[in-house]
Amino acid sequence: MIVFNRCSSLLITVKLPVILLGFVILNGWEYANASEVNVYSGRKEALIRPVFEKFTEETGIVVNLVSGRAGQLRERLIIEGRNTPADILLTSDVANLYRAKKAGLLQPIVSDVLTEHIPSIYREKNGYWFGLSLRARVFVYASDRVIEGELSSYEDLAAQKWRGRIAVRSSSNVYNQSLIASMIAEHGIDSTEEWAAGLVQNFARSPKGGDTDQIRAVAAGEADVAIVNSYYYGRLMASKNLGDQDLTEKTTLFFPNQHNRGTHVNISGAGVIASAKNLAESILLLEFLAGVEGQGLFAELNHEFPINEDIKQSSTVTKWGRFKSDQVNLSLLGEYNTEAIRIADRVGWR
Ligand code: FE
Repeated sequence: MIVFNRCSSLLITVKLPVILLGFVILNGWEYANASEVNVYSGRKEALIRPVFEKFTEETGIVVNLVSGRAGQLRERLIIEGRNTPADILLTSDVANLYRAKKAGLLQPIVSDVLTEHIPSIYREKNGYWFGLSLRARVFVYASDRVIEGELSSYEDLAAQKWRGRIAVRSSSNVYNQSLIASMIAEHGIDSTEEWAAGLVQNFARSPKGGDTDQIRAVAAGEADVAIVNSYYYGRLMASKNLGDQDLTEKTTLFFPNQHNRGTHVNISGAGVIASAKNLAESILLLEFLAGVEGQGLFAELNHEFPINEDIKQSSTVTKWGRFKSDQVNLSLLGEYNTEAIRIADRVGWR
């Protein structure tokens, strides 16, 4: 059987190393021997399992999955060292990928497929990690208490008019650290600290809960504007639960900074482990995830945006319309992560 799809061209790229590893290729592209790849994943299993099953169906390569929180997986990889069975680390937020690289856990990968499909701002320049889907850090506002045109930018949320109206989770969360880092990239450290201090002044309550809890706070009238990742709103929109639907009826999603640099976006992404035993299979899996078919599943299941704008978006996120995203190189956000945490501490963003 010859598989004439995206994956077949991916397989061409690694045909030689696969043969050298001693795998038999039947009729051109189908594997006779079951080979495998081991993934440590910070992504919810239900959101990633169907993508891996599709990959296995097409390549015969079995994907073994270990799920956990980003920090736990990183610690585990450090402890396991070169004995780790892991071939790939899959995680959300560029700061987590940056930390993994800095800890020496990843190796550089050269792949024309990955560089062709993934815009350079969403991958590490030497191939240590690659973005595979995009999420935007958006505002969700109370439709009845915020006047259209009142919202504009992240910067504006520090203004006096938002006193006691903003809900956002703790700064210990990496999404907020990366948002602060994006402000440092744009405005520098001093201005960002001033902004963060103003934002904290405007909190409706002391930070608690996750992003969905911030949307709940807006729907319940505790706050007027929540700062959240777009896919949390996508999940509520797609939910059959009446309570979830009620949340989206009372609120509206807003993309900030459309009149200047664009909305802050971040990635879910992956890198190959430094001591990966299944290197060829690992590259194949990353290429599959970056390809049209892999993207359709990987981004869509979590209501994220495909990493390449030429790839069709899911029906849920399409409803929000196209938006302008900040084009800052995401590697920079990793570099500013420590400074972002310091700023949050100094301004009392708990
Ligand atoms: Fe999340």
